[in-house]
Amino acid sequence: MEKQTMRIAILGLGTVGSGVVRLLRESREMLHLKTGLNLELAKVLVRDARRPRPGFEDLPLTDDVDEILGDPSIRIVVELMGGIEPARTYMVEALKRGKTVVTANKDVMADYDKDLYDAGEIGDAELYFEASVGGGIPIIRPLKESLAANRMELVMGIVNGTTNYILTQMSQYGKSYEEALREAQELGYAEPDPTNDVQGYDAARKLAILSSICFLSRVKPGMVYTEGITRITPRDIEYGRRFGWVVKLLAIGKEVDGKIEARVHPAFIPEGHPLANVSGSLNAVFTVGDPVGESMFFGRGAGAGPTASAVVSDLIAAALSKRTPGRRAGDASTVFFEKPVLPISETRSRYYLRLHATDAPGSLARIAERFGVHEVSLAQVVQGSGGPDRPNGRGSAELVLVTHTVQDANMQAVVRDLKEMADTVISVDNVIRVEG
Ligand code: NAP
Repeated sequence: MEKQTMRIAILGLGTVGSGVVRLLRESREMLHLKTGLNLELAKVLVRDARRPRPGFEDLPLTDDVDEILGDPSIRIVVELMGGIEPARTYMVEALKRGKTVVTANKDVMADYDKDLYDAGEIGDAELYFEASVGGGIPIIRPLKESLAANRMELVMGIVNGTTNYILTQMSQYGKSYEEALREAQELGYAEPDPTNDVQGYDAARKLAILSSICFLSRVKPGMVYTEGITRITPRDIEYGRRFGWVVKLLAIGKEVDGKIEARVHPAFIPEGHPLANVSGSLNAVFTVGDPVGESMFFGRGAGAGPTASAVVSDLIAAALSKRTPGRRAGDASTVFFEKPVLPISETRSRYYLRLHATDAPGSLARIAERFGVHEVSLAQVVQGSGGPDRPNGRGSAELVLVTHTVQDANMQAVVRDLKEMADTVISVDNVIRVEG
């Protein structure tokens, strides 16, 4: 029997767009089988339609978005341009006109998902965004659909491959941060300007998307406490190893007593934790829900192939849903509440603190006293070697102090006090949270 045709358009033919076109070509037969449809690529939007694109000469390129938005025969729009504008406006317009939108755009999803859902209401159109978090890892639809019966308590992920690659190189080969970053840039894992990745902003956007789904309340990137990896040193990693920990850039979302915690920062986790062995450019998301308990989603968080896998899978779901109308619960917004997001000062963690102190009698007692004054109880204290790198004329000793679980505000008060004890504390070298 002749297959019904469904016309689709792609906005953007870069890394992901090219991967999606290739996968659509290679999997034509499978797409027929799975959708019962002939998916026809009607238009591909690029900035410059006249630029030669080897391997893609046969594509119906355009640089005029109205040829897509104004064409009622195009039923699904796949947005792979990136950035906020004009991607946000194009998606809003497509949804208002009843076109399903599939996107990989974390920037728009993290800050403007409401605009898209509202537009979808107007146009009675659906929105799919599996590729916006974790590249090829299935995480959005599992959270919205497969785990929908759960009350989610925790979502904790390694969602940025660049920083995970850098930290893995530092941990496994003792490289400095600068050395590992340079290498990541040479291999194309890090951008020439790595700020978005190394300062944790990319992870914060992904955490905002995950938290909004898990906790049924809108979390925006600006509400996420964000700290990058630039201050991690091989020395901290070495001390962590002595305690049986590894350092990771974690994106952590929790709901405690109706309030949300959302934070991105480097943290030590025990070597036995499921996230500890996620190394290199791999990503993983660990969740805890009631009653399901712990789950973990693991795989390639970026790259043309893995991301195209998520986009085309969304496209299959979108095409099936269009063929048999009737909105699917998993594709509507699940933001029902406005729960408060806790300031970082009210969150609780264990802490690792490394400092250099004067090597004089009573130094340790004076330092420990500041912890006591602020009700921060110590679990472990390790004294390292002196600091030959401290040309201050005084003998110095390196100390590592590990706390029990305490409130962040108390810990920050301890750090402030220590920094003011110039007669005892030469430098507070690092403070890293310990999770898991
Ligand atoms: P990219 O390589 O920079 O490609 C962007 C494409 O969009 C280019 O073809 C560009 O056209 C087109 N474009 C950009 N602005 C446009 C405009 N104003 N009008 C028309 N066309 C425009 O980007 P990418 O790496 O494929 O990323 C696309 C999206 O996927 C982003 O949202 C990104 O965050 C997300 N994502 C990427 C990955 C990954 O591994 N790369 C993983 C997960 C999610 P020209 O070719 O004419 O310049």
